[in-house]
Amino acid sequence: MQNTATPTHCPYCALQCGMNLTPTPDGTVEVSERADFPVNRGALCGKGRTAPAVLARNVRLTSPLVRDAGGTLVPASWDEALDRIAAELSRTRAEHGPDAVGVFGGGGLTNEKAYTLGKFARVVLGTSQIDYNGRFCMSSAAAAGIKAFGLDRGLPFPLEDIPKSGCVILVGSNLAETMPPSLRFFTELKENGGTLIVIDPRRTRTAEQADLHLAPRPGTDLALALGLLHLVIAEGRVDEEYVRERTAGWEDARAAAMAHWPEYVERITGVSVPQLRETVRLFCEPESAMVLTARGPEQQSKGTDTVGAWINLCLATGRPGRPLSGYGCLTGQGNGQGGREHGQKADQLPGYRKLDDPAARRHVAEVWGVDPDSLPGPGRSAYELLDALGTDIRSLLLMASNPVVSAPRAAHIEERIKSLDFLAVCDVVLSETAALADVVLPVTQWAEETGTTTNLEGRVLLRRRAVTPPEGVRSDLEVMHELAARLGVEKGFPTDPEEVFEELRRASAGGPADYSGITYRRLAEENGVFWPCPSPAEAGGPGEGARPDGQLEVVDMGEDALLDAPLPDDPARETPTAHPGTPRLFLDRFATPDGRARFVPVSHRATAEEPDDEYPVLLTTGRVVAQYQSGAQTRRVAELNAAAPGPFVEIHPRLAARLGVAEGDPVAVVSRRGRAVAPARITNAIRPDTVFMPFHWPGEGRANTLTNPALDPTSRMPEFKACAVRLEAVAREAVAEESIAEETVAEETAVRETVERETVEREAVSAR
Ligand code: SF4
Repeated sequence: MQNTATPTHCPYCALQCGMNLTPTPDGTVEVSERADFPVNRGALCGKGRTAPAVLARNVRLTSPLVRDAGGTLVPASWDEALDRIAAELSRTRAEHGPDAVGVFGGGGLTNEKAYTLGKFARVVLGTSQIDYNGRFCMSSAAAAGIKAFGLDRGLPFPLEDIPKSGCVILVGSNLAETMPPSLRFFTELKENGGTLIVIDPRRTRTAEQADLHLAPRPGTDLALALGLLHLVIAEGRVDEEYVRERTAGWEDARAAAMAHWPEYVERITGVSVPQLRETVRLFCEPESAMVLTARGPEQQSKGTDTVGAWINLCLATGRPGRPLSGYGCLTGQGNGQGGREHGQKADQLPGYRKLDDPAARRHVAEVWGVDPDSLPGPGRSAYELLDALGTDIRSLLLMASNPVVSAPRAAHIEERIKSLDFLAVCDVVLSETAALADVVLPVTQWAEETGTTTNLEGRVLLRRRAVTPPEGVRSDLEVMHELAARLGVEKGFPTDPEEVFEELRRASAGGPADYSGITYRRLAEENGVFWPCPSPAEAGGPGEGARPDGQLEVVDMGEDALLDAPLPDDPARETPTAHPGTPRLFLDRFATPDGRARFVPVSHRATAEEPDDEYPVLLTTGRVVAQYQSGAQTRRVAELNAAAPGPFVEIHPRLAARLGVAEGDPVAVVSRRGRAVAPARITNAIRPDTVFMPFHWPGEGRANTLTNPALDPTSRMPEFKACAVRLEAVAREAVAEESIAEETVAEETAVRETVERETVEREAVSAR
């Protein structure tokens, strides 16, 4: 591979920061600033800056592993490993039917991989049982966005609109730790005279930047939004003309909000009436204003209604579809947006089409060259799928996910995984879930392969290959190609990402997330393109046609026209007629049949598990700046581990005093699902009725041992953000001296060293 800088993107969060990568003569990879990418303008957080550390051979897998008769994972050839997976999946299908095979994907997979995984599950395995960990990320916001606007795209405007707005309410987002480079947009907002309001039970680093910080009790964001809407109505701040011209369903939503008078909301949330009034004043007075939600309000058993309440507030004040205004969701995972558009979700086909829509099935089946009737229907959501392992689902193929750490009620899910007849995992490292597998396939990662991702703005990006992968690893696309062939499907699973993308364009054409006008060439030249981006209308292009301003225009083109439409891979076609992409949605109309946004009437309800005498405290969970999600990658980076070596329990001084706990003392946090132990971190930045744990670690301090899998009835999102716990002081001598992170790394190093030793021995034997 060349020793010049390759412009590409970070492997981690949904900001997808731009960076340059340069391989150095000593075998390492240098990260340098890429100032031309407008989202981060060269800035990176510590995770992005240190991401190449996970490319090193000494932290990642480079040989397939197969569990031997003695129960040990041992190195194997690729043929041996792939043959074993194909044989086990075939056996499960034959003995128990296709739905006994499950597939679990990840929000970090590129669009090409997510698309191919959905196709592989439905065409090769014939199973309906596919979902992915992105269900745990943004599904409530997606469901609420579709109900209200007819379309789910995280942000309906670029991040660069934020500094020019008059007011932004950030609900349950700690982006100073989750996406540090994005904080610049909010600093500039304040410098320009705008107001930042942060809603979070903790006074986070983000909340410290706010002009106004509201700290509601966890699980009460829905009541808070309803109380604000009540005041908007009572104070005569409703934008009546906007509501009349651009929305439907106002009267029912209005009646629901009027039942949530401010004093009642104060009692539920703990946010005072004067603070509620001040929030309404700051939000309503400027010409433009936004509400942005993240996991706080979304990861609740009423997440869809909660986001719906915030959207109602925006609609009543005339914000969505107006300049520098509206509602948006800050998607979390690297390809959390694209990963939910192209078919790895249980109910979905590429282009954000619905699996139970006959026209969508016909369209995609024709692109795939199969009978529409052969496509299975919708399957289980992520938690329900994991909960069915070992019972209805006997074998699982898992890619880019680590549910042993990241799933709610994680000890139970770990047991379900152990009870499988067969588990195959594709991963870069030996994650806690991969360590339980029967076969582990070592795959290429971000900088070693080309593919597209779609960031939180809906901007489709080209993540380019910058370094040569080590001997012994293959891409996920190669894995699916090889498995498809072994399972009797010789064609339709290319290994070249651009070839996959060309097919994805055809499959998405005319769908809500229409990528048909996007090419690798355009992505390279234009620094990303916002979807929807149909192919040129005059070429017989699909449904939502081009307009010079990039706005949606609904055009009924019919299925045949979609399938016959040539795609603009001729560069000559790309310039004058190419659709510009759609940075800003809804300026003229919403993506509903009548173009109007929908109010959805919602009412407050309690969390699934309220505190009681036995479990009197609320637990909420989240992230720290130096670790990412389940930590499978970032816990292998020394610099990040030094900054964030292990879990902790954040406790208010009054609660700590009641327990007799001092800073650093081990504390047991006990819920109805299990017990976790971690050192106390005492701070008055948290409410006295609430404790916080980050969820990046396995073992004794695993926060998700405690979390509640109560599901939102629409999005099937588990209630990660609020459950009832009790706290117990633990004697220091009862806790091992080493940090849990150190223990984990030591165990994994031992496995890796065994694997490397056995690989060398095996190679020596075959050489003889
Ligand atoms: Fe990577 Fe996100 Fe950090 Fe940017 S903010 S460098 S995308 S982890």
